[in-house]
Amino acid sequence: MRAKKIRIMPYPDLVEVQGVIVERGSVKSWEMEVSEVSGFPLKIPITVVNGNQVGPRLCITAGIHGCEYDSIEAAIRLSNTIKPADLKGTLLITPIINLPGFQQKTPHVCPLDNLNLNRIFPGNPKGSISQQVAYTVFTQVVMKSDYLIDLHGGDLTESILPHIMVKITGQDSVDAQSRFMAQHFDIEHIWELDSSGIPGYPNYPKGSITYEASVRGIPAIVAEAGERGKMEEQYVKVLYDGIKNVMRTLKMLDEDPLPVKGHTLLERGRIVVSETSGLFYPSVSCGSRVSKGEEIGEIKDLSGTVKENLISPVEGIVLSLIPLMAVNSGEILFLIVELPKANA
Ligand SMILES: [Zn+2]
Repeated sequence: MRAKKIRIMPYPDLVEVQGVIVERGSVKSWEMEVSEVSGFPLKIPITVVNGNQVGPRLCITAGIHGCEYDSIEAAIRLSNTIKPADLKGTLLITPIINLPGFQQKTPHVCPLDNLNLNRIFPGNPKGSISQQVAYTVFTQVVMKSDYLIDLHGGDLTESILPHIMVKITGQDSVDAQSRFMAQHFDIEHIWELDSSGIPGYPNYPKGSITYEASVRGIPAIVAEAGERGKMEEQYVKVLYDGIKNVMRTLKMLDEDPLPVKGHTLLERGRIVVSETSGLFYPSVSCGSRVSKGEEIGEIKDLSGTVKENLISPVEGIVLSLIPLMAVNSGEILFLIVELPKANA
C-alpha cells in the first residue's frame, strides 16, 4: 500500500484524539478506549504534550509487547519530563499499548486473544480485541503524527543486542527520513529490513506498526534495548536519550543534536529453528560474530548426549536468542543478521 498520508487534523494548534482536545501549550494524560472486554471498556494510557510553539508531531509507542520494561519506562519518563514550554510541536505518547499483557506479565502476545499486536497493524475495528486495539491506536494516534518511534526490547524470554530497525518501503523520501532518525540514536547497530522480510518468518515486517506507518508516508523506526524482564537504567537511558536527540534533529527542542558514535549497518536476517526437543545450550551470545557453518549451540538429552548441533546459516552477528533451557521442535532460537560485505 502506498497511499499518501492525509492530514486529519482540522486545526493546526489543537491535537484531537478520540474527541479529547489538547490545546497548544498544554499537556494532557488520560486513558483512551481501545476495545471492549466482555462488554466493559479496555483503556490504555496516553499523554499528549502540545508544545508552546508549532512544529512536527512525533508519536512514541511502547508496550506493544507488555513485558519490555525498559522501553515502557523510557516512554513514561518522556511523558513526565518534556514540558510544553520547551517543545516545538507535539509528542503523542502511548507507553503501554498491550495493557492486558503488561498486567498479566504475558510475553509476546495479548493474553485476551493470544495475538502478537505487532503483526496485525493497521488492525480491524470489527476484529478481535488486539485487532481493535491496533486499529484504534493506528487511526487515532499514529496517523495523526508526522513521525513514529516504536520502542521495544528483548521480551521476558529473549536476549537481544540493542539496535535500531528501519523498515525499508522503497519510497525514497520516507526511507531517507527514517534512516536520518535512526542515525541520531547512540546505538551502534542499525538493521534495515525491506518487505521481503526474513526467510521462514512469514509476512513480517508487514503488520508491524512501523512498517504500516512507513508505507503510508510516516517515517518510522523501531528502537530496541533491554531484555528478559529486567529494568536496567543504561537501556532506559539509551532509549530516552535517543528520542530526545531525534527531537533535536527535528527541531522540536531548542538544542543542537548531540554527536553519536559510528554505526554498523545490518542487512538480511536469518533465523535458526530447532528440529528436536530437549535441553538447549547456546555457545554464543548476543553480539557474537559468527561465520557460516559455525556451531552456535547444542540440544542435548538428560544424559548429555547431543541430539542436534545448531549451525549458523550465514556469516553475521547474533541479534537475538532465546536462552531458555527447555526447547521444543520448531522453535526459533537465534536471529542472525548479515553485515554488508564491506564491513564483514
Ligand atoms: Zn517487542
